Amino acid sequence: MALSYRDAVTQLAGVGEKRAAALRDLGIFTIEDLLMDYPFRYQDLAEKRPSETLDGEKVTFKGIVSTAPVVRRFGKKSRLIFGLLVDRENIKVSFFNQPWLAKQIEEGQELAVYGTYQAAQAALTAQKQVPLGADPLTPIYPTSKAIQQKTLRSLIEQAWGQVGGTLPNLVPTALRQKYRLLDKNDQIAACHFPDDQLTAKAGRRSAAFEEFFIFQMRLQLVKLADERYQGQPLPYDAAAIAHFIEHLPFALTAAQQRVTEEILADQAAPRHMNRLLQGDVGSGKTVVAATAMCAAVTAGQQAALMAPTEILAQQHAKGLARLFDQAGVDLRVELLTSGLKAAQRRDILADLLAGDIDIVIGTHALVQDGVAFHHLGLAVIDEQHRFGVKQRARLREGGQNPDILAMTATPIPRTLAITAYGEMEVSVIDELPAGRKPILTRQLAQKQADQAFAFMKEELARGAQAYVVTPLIEESESLDVQNVTQVYQELQAALPDYQVGLLHGRLDKADKDVLMAGFAANEIQVLVATTVVEVGVDVPNASIMLILDADRFGLAQLHQLRGRVGRGDRQSYAFLLADPKTDYGKQRLQALVDSTDGFELAQKDLELRGSGDLLGTKQSGLPDFQVGDPVKDLTMLTIAQEEALALVRQENWDQVPDHQALVTYLSETMAQFRYFD
Ligand code: ADP
Ligand code: MG
Repeated sequence: MALSYRDAVTQLAGVGEKRAAALRDLGIFTIEDLLMDYPFRYQDLAEKRPSETLDGEKVTFKGIVSTAPVVRRFGKKSRLIFGLLVDRENIKVSFFNQPWLAKQIEEGQELAVYGTYQAAQAALTAQKQVPLGADPLTPIYPTSKAIQQKTLRSLIEQAWGQVGGTLPNLVPTALRQKYRLLDKNDQIAACHFPDDQLTAKAGRRSAAFEEFFIFQMRLQLVKLADERYQGQPLPYDAAAIAHFIEHLPFALTAAQQRVTEEILADQAAPRHMNRLLQGDVGSGKTVVAATAMCAAVTAGQQAALMAPTEILAQQHAKGLARLFDQAGVDLRVELLTSGLKAAQRRDILADLLAGDIDIVIGTHALVQDGVAFHHLGLAVIDEQHRFGVKQRARLREGGQNPDILAMTATPIPRTLAITAYGEMEVSVIDELPAGRKPILTRQLAQKQADQAFAFMKEELARGAQAYVVTPLIEESESLDVQNVTQVYQELQAALPDYQVGLLHGRLDKADKDVLMAGFAANEIQVLVATTVVEVGVDVPNASIMLILDADRFGLAQLHQLRGRVGRGDRQSYAFLLADPKTDYGKQRLQALVDSTDGFELAQKDLELRGSGDLLGTKQSGLPDFQVGDPVKDLTMLTIAQEEALALVRQENWDQVPDHQALVTYLSETMAQFRYFD
């Protein structure tokens, strides 16, 4: 029976349960998914002449074997050498540790080999033989340990053999014509089986547009659905809000005032609010959120604040209670985390449902089952890039449709933010509170660690506090704990006059709380920690941030970590200890030394990263794309956004025959739609 592109991959020969599971992990369920799993690069096996090949270039040479192979052995290793006459030049070809090839290579034989060219020696260090007449471009796929390149490639070939030519276009015909995009089947063939770089490029262009377009269609549909929810205008008490702002311990910055007005106006409008508040570390987002929550409460509604970690939730609960208290606003704020005792939790849940709690603060536990509100008017999501779309949807499913205020310190350049978070309005706090002294940042080699510790000791003597951050060693939490514990013990021994604390992800919640409270109260002077202190933690007296193996962190993460200091009156210092090995590593650290402006750093990071670094994209808070690069292809992303927006605004766009494949595809894949988590 002929297969259809919509069949499950398990219909293919050679795909059993195990392989199906591995494919699923790559997001591949159907044959269509498999064929849309495009290569991210190509190994170029196109043959060249030595005269047009650069030194160090990877190349395929085809020629006649001019001298029979000889094998030289040294210990267990071996080197096989023979001459290859390529375009009248004699190239010395070496294969390392494959002595058996000697039997297969004969003088006078025609042969193609792929390897690295050393121009000065007219030599090629060969990686492999290339079958004569092989496809010149070998696609390389993003794979997992569970599935190999070869396997994936042959599955794609098999799938294409079965359903090639039958795939429907997801991008509407009008758009394909307008932007000169390939037909879907040509696009697939061009991406998976290109004859040359030019074809591959054309395929990639069409595939990237398709990817961006589908992404934007999803965003715009979410946005449209949001707009259809009839939000309620919020009749908040303007006088009470003015009173609250007046009685804050500080004056709001102009930027804080501006975004506060934007948010209040949004809340007051009958539209449902879905807004992203962007502001660099330390720019004072919390107080803006507090004002918005206060507004909801004055209108007789409840507000919820969700933080990514328990520590942060704790800190917010305390900080907000203090703010409201100082301003003489009478509110009941409660903390709801998974660390609560069952009885406490039950009471809080009951009071939430009864409407006796005005503001609840918690972690993701807040959107878990069993939490129901009397009338949730506003949900604030702190450090929003760590929060899934699914979790936001869950909030909405709670039957109520609160206004959403998502906050992020991820400094995505504005143009990019607008496209990446296409379904939200964006407010930006682009200034820091006055009087902040820029953090002085130094990069030191690991062997200069003593200098940094000596400096830290001097500052401790002046009453300062310090963070010492140890890196994620591997994808292994126990190794991280081992490492952080060792650093902790060394510091404890070296600083007998001070209290040193140890904070890592494996600690009990209660222990974490005690530690953070101790650090905030200056009972602990030095906090040795893993990246759990990365976001949000606010202890203004801490003025030293010492980061070990700093090159193991991404730029955005380093900026976040550094943002833990420089929050008070003290001159603050950051030390980045690292021996970066790559240019990118060096430039990244230098960028931090040169600038404390998150937006500038984000721009720099994007420039440095260029394309192809999926991890980096993830870290910067941008959605992951498989083919397209949101930085390099920003124009295309913007166009895809405009076109998606125009399409969903067309009446009955989903009834048009030409759009049916797209409609089906979107509805079937919406459930798997995740781009923030
Ligand atoms: P972030 O935007 O990183 O979440 P926070 O809201 O934690 O920043 O604020 C950082 C620190 O700055 C806090 O200690 C806060 O009390 C203080 N702060 C906020 N706004 C102002 C302001 N307008 N003037 C002075 N200090 C402020
Ligand atoms: Mg914050």
